[in-house]
Amino acid sequence: MSSYLNAGRRSRELDELTSTRLDVLVVGGGITGCGIALDAASRGLSVALVEKDDLAFGTSRWSSKLVHGGLRYLATGDVGLALESARERGILMTRTAPHLVRALPMAVPLSRDLDARHGLLVDAGHRTADLLRLVARTPRATLPRPRRIGVAETTRLLPGVRRAGLRGAVLNWDGHLEDDARLVVAVARTAAAHGARILTRVRWQDGVLVDQLTGRSLGYQANTVINATGAWADTLSPRVRLRPSKGVHVVLDAAVLGHPSASLTVPVPGEPNRYVFALPHADGIVHVGLTDDPLDGPLPEVPRAEEAEIAFLLDTLSRGLERPLGRSDVVGSFAGVRPLIAGEEGRTADLSRRHSVTLDEGLLTVLGGKLTTYRKMAQDAVDLLTEVPCRTAELPLVGATHAAPADRLARRYGSEAADVAAAGPLTPVADGVPVLQAELHWGLRAEGALDAADLLERRTRLSLVDAWAEAAGPVVGSVLEGWHAQA
Ligand SMILES: Cc1cc2nc3c(=O)[nH]c(=O)nc-3n(C[C@H](O)[C@H](O)[C@H](O)COP(=O)(O)OP(=O)(O)OC[C@H]3O[C@@H](n4cnc5c(N)ncnc54)[C@H](O)[C@@H]3O)c2cc1C
Repeated sequence: MSSYLNAGRRSRELDELTSTRLDVLVVGGGITGCGIALDAASRGLSVALVEKDDLAFGTSRWSSKLVHGGLRYLATGDVGLALESARERGILMTRTAPHLVRALPMAVPLSRDLDARHGLLVDAGHRTADLLRLVARTPRATLPRPRRIGVAETTRLLPGVRRAGLRGAVLNWDGHLEDDARLVVAVARTAAAHGARILTRVRWQDGVLVDQLTGRSLGYQANTVINATGAWADTLSPRVRLRPSKGVHVVLDAAVLGHPSASLTVPVPGEPNRYVFALPHADGIVHVGLTDDPLDGPLPEVPRAEEAEIAFLLDTLSRGLERPLGRSDVVGSFAGVRPLIAGEEGRTADLSRRHSVTLDEGLLTVLGGKLTTYRKMAQDAVDLLTEVPCRTAELPLVGATHAAPADRLARRYGSEAADVAAAGPLTPVADGVPVLQAELHWGLRAEGALDAADLLERRTRLSLVDAWAEAAGPVVGSVLEGWHAQA
């Protein structure tokens, strides 16, 4: 079956829904729901996924885009979770999504803020993380050995790093996603290729499905309903106890840090085991994160970064820089809500990132976890529904290739780059903006984008940089007009 998602397929599959007996109805089109839809469909179950908005509308597009080997879980003594992360990282990087996850060098400078004892601890942590890599059988060619580097190499990788008191750095490697929303779309399309119906703009409301584009209620019959609504899970299963925590990132032009080629880690003063990272991305931007604070009260649909949170990130990162950052260096910002499971006291930063699968009044709720472990979360959930063995560890996602990316399209679309190039003009959407017009056409034809927000915010990520989104607006509008006129 085709992996292409678009408005035509959506409306056909919505019409078929009433007359189909589903094995599984998945509610939520983030990484968790899409992972479950893929796992279930690839084991031969009949599946539909409903998402009230768009694929990756929730937390899944606001992550740090790291595919963790679990180093931070070692620090909290959770070896099982660390090993699970390392295994899942290896699966993504070597088999299922090598086109979307690449090795990123991560440097912790040895400076005044990191005394010799702390430096030795970081070294020891990295050596243990490397052992996890070995146990998870991820080859060294995929993730090089952690090592100490001297001042010259540190300043080559991190031209903006503070020189005073610099004694070199500890260098480690971890997985880094090209784009978290792209991973969600790739998983959803792979599920669609296995027969899953991926239905966006459909809300599950008190047991009824409502088409958000027409207001029409839709009948369905499903043996099992799976709640994969992340931080919103308690709206479907009131007995679920969440302790949501908010994480903020700011986006900088890479030029203000001298175009770093490694991530920079700066300890948060007075808070052990807490750091601010500057993660270099393609397209000349750097993401700086991360806050981790409890979020009280009703959850916003789309959380926003507050000025105090932006200031905290800029101030902490500036401690490790030659030139302190100012508010005018920020070209964008974003915030997400972690669906952490309640039950423990203390800082949300210390709460476990483990996942849980629970049955609550006929609703299977899959919660917690992280992007890195989505496949294992899905496996654990679907194992409860069928004895057919899970196949997803060996199932490449659409676009998967081991070829080194030669250009932007190969970097973002892997083996589908030539198809994307044929979908429309290879001209930038606006002067100085890296996204090509062909990507907009491809988003509508194959990736289930239905409107301008889907294109700007989740297929291309233009809206990560405020000025890019503004400049691209007119072209996005005219591509959509052309698409609707043709449909
Ligand atoms: C700031 C931050 C940084 C992070 N960094 C990392 C990282 O670097 N690496 C990593 O591995 N993990 C990271 N995580 C964790 C990871 O992002 C999340 O665990 C994961 O994205 C959660 O995915 P999800 O599918 O469960 O939830 P979501 O992505 O929120 O998906 C839930 C979906 O359900 C939909 N929905 C809600 N209610 C309904 C309804 N009634 N009907 C239909 N649909 C509905 C929502 O619209 C949403 O799209 C980070 C998290 C945060 C907040």
